[in-house]
Amino acid sequence: MPFTKLGLHPDLLHAVRSMGFTAPTPIQERAIPSALEGRDVLGCAQTGSGKTAAFALPILQRLLSRPGRGTRALVIVPTRELAAQVETTFRDCGRFTPHKAAVIIGGVGYHGQRQALAQGAPILVATPGRLLDHMREGAIKLGGIEQLVLDEADRMLDMGFMPAIREILGKLSRERQTMLFSATLGPEIERVASFTLRNPVRIEISRPSTVAEGISQVVYPVDPRQKPDLLVAILEASQIRSGVIFCRTKHGADRLARRLKERGFSIGVLHANRTQGQRTSTMEDFRRGRVQILVATDIAARGIDVREVSHVVNYDLPRHPEDYVHRVGRTARAYGAGDAISLMAPDEQPFLSAIERFVGTTFPRAMLPNFNYTVPPLLTPPKPKTFQDLRWGRHRRSTRRFRRLS
Ligand code: AMP
Repeated sequence: MPFTKLGLHPDLLHAVRSMGFTAPTPIQERAIPSALEGRDVLGCAQTGSGKTAAFALPILQRLLSRPGRGTRALVIVPTRELAAQVETTFRDCGRFTPHKAAVIIGGVGYHGQRQALAQGAPILVATPGRLLDHMREGAIKLGGIEQLVLDEADRMLDMGFMPAIREILGKLSRERQTMLFSATLGPEIERVASFTLRNPVRIEISRPSTVAEGISQVVYPVDPRQKPDLLVAILEASQIRSGVIFCRTKHGADRLARRLKERGFSIGVLHANRTQGQRTSTMEDFRRGRVQILVATDIAARGIDVREVSHVVNYDLPRHPEDYVHRVGRTARAYGAGDAISLMAPDEQPFLSAIERFVGTTFPRAMLPNFNYTVPPLLTPPKPKTFQDLRWGRHRRSTRRFRRLS
């Protein structure tokens, strides 16, 4: 279906064309017409699916078609990076309209934000904590909000933002349109949906645990002491144009970044201990190709949207399988191709098994040729446990066999 069939305003169609989008993505095709009718939307869509434009275009259309004053649309997102990303999408989609989005996030000064609020920016893109700060000091009135978006609601749940969101919701008019987007739809999200949405259109684009097609996924088993050297060898062998390397901790990310810099790679670091200014300039350098590789933690990397990410490397395997899906979603965005490489120490096997169960695939194990392994890597995945194993456990079974034999 072409964009022209979705019922969008000519100024928005013009913007979509100027961004080079030729056809709506599946989430856009299904969410935009319902959102334009004013329906609430419950959208389950992966990162990279085009969900931001799926809510930004209907919001801009309402602002264009119904005159009004003050702040009329609010988008709540879990992280500062995602807020910046969403604001960019509003800027791109709204470039032929007078409507601008203001960003309300922590880690930066209050003054500019207070000014934007006083001027009544029509759209606010906010993280929950800073939004609440402004609400509590009376800098912001949300009574005029006609459209609300909760973006990446699963992540907001994980990050413990639900009490803040309930408090914010309590200040909004019931007469509003609400759109909730989440990468997964578990019982907790359903509960959030039940108190935020009214008779929503449900749109599930793909199974929540799927990884976009076009991503090749491979695992390199390795002794933990050799992880840094193997990583360098892989980076050199794969001629990575632009990659994101995920670490589990902030200190781990700093340490790895130092080592890679020493080996001559151009590296940016993204984690929660970096100031907002540092994070913004790192992202800008990465986007412009001045930095080749980002070393990041999960939360900081949420919302990274760079078309050209060719490789995602899991230096540490994530503890939550959902994070794996989010991580590898940084590559092959908007249905391109990409590589996801995971380094696995033996004690990370249980995390890998959980991920493989979650995405429903066993990833191929690989060995890097010409790399000097000190411990031979185990290249066969462990056999899945049978029902009998789980029921009796190895020890009990062998005792029973022993009794039978004796
Ligand atoms: P999102 O899932 O909103 O983070 O979007 C992921 C990427 O897809 C962004 O780089 C968008 O610019 C891009 N994108 C969104 N909609 C389309 C479309 N209809 N055609 C091509 N690319 C798109």
